[in-house]
Amino acid sequence: MSIMDKKIASPQAGKNAAALSEAKTPSTSGRKAAQTHEIKAPPVPEENALSPLEEKALPPRARRQIPRAPMPEQEPQARSRNFEEVNLGLNVLDAVTEAARCIACAKPRCVVDCPVGVKIKEVVALIRKGDFLGAAAKLREDNSLPAITGRVCPQEKQCEGGCILGQKGAPVAIGNLERFVADYERQSGQLGLPANAPATGKSVAIVGSGPAGLSAAGDLIQKGHRVRVFEALHEVGGVLVYGIPEFRLPKSIVKSEVDNLRRMGVEFETNVVVGKSVTIDELMRDEHYDAVFVATGAGLPQFLNIPGEQLNGVYSANEFLTRVNLMRAYQADEYDEPLYDCRGKDVIVVGGGNTAMDAVRTARRLGARTATLVYRRSEVEMPARAEEVKHARQEGIEFRLLTNPIEFIGDEKGCLTGARCVLMELSEPDASGRRRPVEIKGSEFLLPADVVIIGVGTTANPLVQGSTPGLKTTPRNYIVADPETLRTTKRGVFAGGDIVTGGATVILAMGAGRKAAASIHEFLTTGEW
Ligand SMILES: Cc1cc2nc3c(=O)[nH]c(=O)nc-3n(C[C@H](O)[C@H](O)[C@H](O)COP(=O)(O)OP(=O)(O)OC[C@H]3O[C@@H](n4cnc5c(N)ncnc54)[C@H](O)[C@@H]3O)c2cc1C
Ligand code: SF4
Repeated sequence: MSIMDKKIASPQAGKNAAALSEAKTPSTSGRKAAQTHEIKAPPVPEENALSPLEEKALPPRARRQIPRAPMPEQEPQARSRNFEEVNLGLNVLDAVTEAARCIACAKPRCVVDCPVGVKIKEVVALIRKGDFLGAAAKLREDNSLPAITGRVCPQEKQCEGGCILGQKGAPVAIGNLERFVADYERQSGQLGLPANAPATGKSVAIVGSGPAGLSAAGDLIQKGHRVRVFEALHEVGGVLVYGIPEFRLPKSIVKSEVDNLRRMGVEFETNVVVGKSVTIDELMRDEHYDAVFVATGAGLPQFLNIPGEQLNGVYSANEFLTRVNLMRAYQADEYDEPLYDCRGKDVIVVGGGNTAMDAVRTARRLGARTATLVYRRSEVEMPARAEEVKHARQEGIEFRLLTNPIEFIGDEKGCLTGARCVLMELSEPDASGRRRPVEIKGSEFLLPADVVIIGVGTTANPLVQGSTPGLKTTPRNYIVADPETLRTTKRGVFAGGDIVTGGATVILAMGAGRKAAASIHEFLTTGEW
């Protein structure tokens, strides 16, 4: 068979591959989540993989003509009424076809623009050859949580934003490929856990079980140290479980990563609020931990500080999402726990980031009559992932852009009835580089609302700082840590993730966790501070 006979060699490749895969698997539209994570095709698609000779014969021009493989997703009407994952994952054929689009740049910008420098070009080449487990192993060299980052990274601003193909068309779907190999590896049951080094006799306490804490734990246990993670909530995973909803990141994916860490020997203790139940000094002095990594995140919600914010029916997005995620309002059929009865109600969510987007899409799924996002800038300035904005629009979320609430109105019982808003226009860029919104005089109007959810940002979780003498903090109560070593001003105590940088991204928190692990290992080995 000549390479032009192969599906990936033709400009129609994506369509052909899609058509072929549809013939092999049932339509994915509106399908149940149980099928979502199943990659049923045979492990190595030899007939689709390219031999080295054929690789050379497939010129970049031909590769560029292959259309980007679309991510199959639940149909919007159906998914806006359930909490099952929206994206269903690429199948084997589409993944190999997509990988064939990569022109293997001599100086790959995708790698430069990945915050943890994943060797994307090599990973994609292994997928093209059908070596998915090899690709997963290569990915894990730099990224310990690929099934998670493949789902939640803002790829359009990172790896895919740098991909050369994006200059004239669609970039390689790096995030979708990352998710594909991670899911493939998990479902294959062939995830080889790395061997731990012989026990060093040293022990490390990690405070907080978000991506920063989890990735530090994974690296430190491999170095032979005893690792115990202390988590304030009753579930492990940080924002990955209490913030990001099931329809974007199924809890089973996070659980499987946590289970792997447990199998490697990491200990977890939940319901421990460090700073209240125990202090860092007590952990080091009484429980003999040799080092502590503080990864407590930035989960303290910020409010608008406008009149009416105390009314019944006004919530922070953090509280709303935590209750829905951890108290299982998203499984209303099985649990008698719909704490927020949004059914038939008019819900407004204020903000333009991932948190606001998650809250408004959650409200819709909980049965809101109208679910409206109110944001004071335009869509261009929205910090939310592009895919979430697209999905929200498809699900019928109403966008009130360049709009700002100035007061919440209630009835005589103190219950919310609406939000008084003004229209905004954009002027010069501010310190964040985004154009500053300015109120348009006389533009005031009333939006009726039964529920308002505020998702305008968060700040540092405070308890550890207040209970740890010698720990220097910034004026906004973030912990001061050396950017290279993540050492704080207190001997043996390191800090990283959102608690140092402020609210950022999963991949940056993960990168900080790995950096901290390397630095802690050095401290434990040399004893030098
Ligand atoms: C709703 C939402 C959606 C998001 N969506 C995305 C996205 O799509 N993509 C993306 O890249 N980023 C996203 N982010 C940001 C991302 O999740 C965070 O940047 C990341 O989780 C930070 O990781 P972390 O480990 O530093 O902290 P966290 O994930 O916040 O974890 C900190 C953990 O520490 C625990 N803790 C706090 N104080 C104590 C204490 N005193 N004692 C014990 N434990 C304590 C907390 O309970 C928590 O479990 C989102 C954030 C939110 C809130
Ligand atoms: S920039 Fe794009 S085309 Fe170039 S190596 Fe990276 S993924 Fe491939």
